[in-house]
Amino acid sequence: MLDGFPGLPDFPAGEVWLAGAGPGDPRLLTVLALHALSRADDIVHDALVDARVLALARPDAEFIKVGKRGGRPSPTQRDINDILIERARLGRRVLRLKGGDPFVFGRGWDEARALGAAGLRFRVIPGLTAGLAGTAMVGIPATSRDTNHAVVLAAGHRAEDGRSVADWEALARLGQPLILYMPMAQLAEIATALRKGGLPGDTPVALIHAATTSAERVADSTLATLPEDAERERIGSPALVVIGAIAGLRRELLSSMVGWQ
Ligand code: SAH
Repeated sequence: MLDGFPGLPDFPAGEVWLAGAGPGDPRLLTVLALHALSRADDIVHDALVDARVLALARPDAEFIKVGKRGGRPSPTQRDINDILIERARLGRRVLRLKGGDPFVFGRGWDEARALGAAGLRFRVIPGLTAGLAGTAMVGIPATSRDTNHAVVLAAGHRAEDGRSVADWEALARLGQPLILYMPMAQLAEIATALRKGGLPGDTPVALIHAATTSAERVADSTLATLPEDAERERIGSPALVVIGAIAGLRRELLSSMVGWQ
């Protein structure tokens, strides 16, 4: 498909390519990610990677799903690192495919470090991160001149060691919009902390479930009604929560924006 496209590298045996698959819609893959899919022997992928993306792999590629979902026991980060290292040492062309961008809340750096420590060669292929591409696709600009000069991408869950990853009250005081990844388990706590930090209850919020997939759902809310709205609109994981003026802008242009579904 990409024959003749300039600058596409060979995928040598024993190399690992750490790539982002974008938020779901295969049309949002990068050229490099598509090239990698067409060359890889082994595709080690997360549960979040869309089936339509995986369908673009070589027909004889081997798929190894290492997703952390569905309530089943899932491989630890250490297991995943070991799989990558073992496969590369067998001389396979290993594509480590992650949702969105590999270096945005994706543990991509942990894997890169493990590969480096094992003396293996790797490349990084960035992807469109869900928090920017998934929002844009539903008409939410990350910045607009009238509303914000900065935007915060934050993880809404707690780190595995129990530390809270964000100081929500401090983030509220920035007065800049927040785009939250993995927010669903802590929605009520986050909303309360942001209000304590000074954000008004009528701050616009948008919830986006499974952006750019056939299951996409968008719900409008406010900080004061966030947990109830999420429940009523049945917004579950994977979802993004956008908090701040940018979340309200989409409604202005919904009638003229042509969707991609
Ligand atoms: N590396 C990924 C993020 C991994 S963390 C990226 O750059 O996008 C996983 C979280 O990302 C999910 O819990 C959800 O908050 C968000 N996410 C990823 N894909 C999504 C999608 N298609 N729609 C909504 N949220 C998504």
